[in-house]
Amino acid sequence: MGPLLLLAVLFVSVFILVPIFLLGVALVSLVEAPSQLLYLIRNPQVRKNHALEHATINLLQADYGLRLSGMSYPDRFVVFGVADPYAVMAAAQRAKQLLGQGRTDLVVHPRCGTTAVLTAFFFAVLFILLSWILGLFSWINILLAVTLAWAVGSTVSPWVQKHVTTDARVGDLDILGADYAYYWAFPAGVVVYTKESNVRWAIR
Ligand SMILES: [Zn+2]
Repeated sequence: MGPLLLLAVLFVSVFILVPIFLLGVALVSLVEAPSQLLYLIRNPQVRKNHALEHATINLLQADYGLRLSGMSYPDRFVVFGVADPYAVMAAAQRAKQLLGQGRTDLVVHPRCGTTAVLTAFFFAVLFILLSWILGLFSWINILLAVTLAWAVGSTVSPWVQKHVTTDARVGDLDILGADYAYYWAFPAGVVVYTKESNVRWAIR
């Protein structure tokens, strides 16, 4: 391959293929992000587990540092980066207690997936908007869109976490137990099983 051809291939990749690829990614996340948020809005049990997951991680962070992350489902949540079910169970129970006492600040976590979803969404909107205004094949609008999206995404995320992706009213969520969470036969974290309480009429 001659150097001129190589240069042409490089030019096409950098100035045409990459922006088109990014535009594709942007269009996908334009649909994906709202549907992920909608899933959470429709599933109060997931939002409650998500609140408990964040609060548990925030409490565990003092002992385990910043390597913890989590995942929430309707009947459980998983904390990755820790392999001590007793410690996670104790933290989860303490988290439930503190949320009941109004410590809603615990439902916000800086490295939550909400931030990534929001950043991807804002990137999509800004990238499409800027491409339309400034022309499609410009690296300036990619950098501008990424920077602005990250700034807006991480600013808005705490509010969205508090009001959309979590629900701090975990009083009726029973913590059943904790166990090792295995991924490919390796204990990657701890799973905490929860259940919607049957005794809704109980005096608390
Ligand atoms: Zn989260």
